[in-house]
This record gives sequence, C-alpha cells and structure tokens, in this order.
Amino acid sequence: MTRAGHKRSGRRAGPHRTCIGCRRLRPQAELLRVVADPEGSIWPDHFGKLPGRGAHLCPDVVCMREAVQRRAFSRAFKRPLQPVDADALAKNFANQARKQALAILVTALRSGFIEAGRDRVQQSLADQKKVPLVLVAEDASSGTQAQMRTMAERADVVWRQALTKKELSALHRGKPLAVLSLRHRGMAERLLEELDPLLSLEASRKSPESKSGPSTRKPREGLTQKSLRGKMPRK
Ligand SMILES: [Zn+2]
Repeated sequence: MTRAGHKRSGRRAGPHRTCIGCRRLRPQAELLRVVADPEGSIWPDHFGKLPGRGAHLCPDVVCMREAVQRRAFSRAFKRPLQPVDADALAKNFANQARKQALAILVTALRSGFIEAGRDRVQQSLADQKKVPLVLVAEDASSGTQAQMRTMAERADVVWRQALTKKELSALHRGKPLAVLSLRHRGMAERLLEELDPLLSLEASRKSPESKSGPSTRKPREGLTQKSLRGKMPRK
C-alpha cells in the first residue's frame, strides 16, 4: 500500500543527477539546482521547480568553485553565461535554506507541534515515537549540546545542531530558546530537507579543506534510517 506523502521518505531512491562540480552521481533530492536567466545570470532554484534547463550541484561550496573553474556552468546550459561567484551562490542557497527552515518552525510552533526548552524536550523524548527530531541551537552552550546529544542518541531520535539561539528565540516570542523538539514527522522531514543542505553548505564554507578539494563527507542520514546512533554530526 502506498501512502500519499510517502514519497519523501524515499529520497535516496528517486532520480539521480550528476554534480557539475565534482561530477559525482547523487540522488537529485540531495543536490541543489541552479537555472540561468535570459541575460545569462545563474540563480539558485531553491525548490528545484523552476522551468527550463537546470544544472545540479552538491550543497558544497567546493563543488561550486570547481564548477566555475571548469567552466561547467556554460557547458551545462550550452551557452555563454555571466561570471558565477561560487561563494555568493553558496551563501544565497544557505540563506534561503535558513529562511525556509525558520518558516517551517514557525508553522510547527503555531500548530503546537513543538516542545520548547530542555525540560519539555526531555519529557517528550520519554515517548520517542512522537519525536522525530530534536534541534539544538548552533550556539547553545557546550553543556546543553552534550546533554541533548546524549539524550537524543539514547532515545534513538534524530537530532541536528543548527540555527542560532537568537533566531529560535525570535520564533518563541523573544523568550530564550536553545533546544526544541518537533513531533510532526512530515514537518520534521521538511525541516531536514532545509537543515541538511544548510549544514553542509556552512561546513564547506568554514572548512579548511574547502581550499584543497571537494569534501568527502557523507551526507547525513535522514529520518528513514532506523538507527542513527553514532552517525550524527559532531561539533
Ligand atoms: Zn559535487
């Protein structure tokens, strides 16, 4: 039996595309798409739905720089293009992902699907079936980070460290917020679709290896993975 909306959980099984930077074949759902306007400027296609020819890239600034160096953009679009600024493109994608992630959280909060704060998250973890995702602010204290990581891993719940306390608190009507859990699976999956490319882009922009070659880091495991223990990003 197939369920409506089940499609997303099969994100690794769908169509594959080649990154024009590193030339690796990857599931399309893991790649970013760019399009070119009539004037020959490259634009991020955040939702991957703009019409016309597109080109795909890993969520990694190294691949974007490599694509620029190899003139892969004009090859992909089969016409001359304006110069592409790889770092600006990566930043643009990251900003959009951040904005979308916050928009999903606002909706989730208004719909009552979020437990805010350490104590409530801890309580909700006791009933792990209801919590597909725990989110810890990227600038949460190291004690909070360690505590939440341990708790989430023990409960076998997916967790991510992303967004800032300031951004999360703004969603929470200005009340300090560094930790939350989201108990709506569909929303959690949508959130991961924004957070994972965001984390990957930001890590590649900060990483010293981004100067020497493409990142070899494996993509993070999603909600469909049964056990996530030991596979979470560490900071
Ligand atoms: Zn790539």
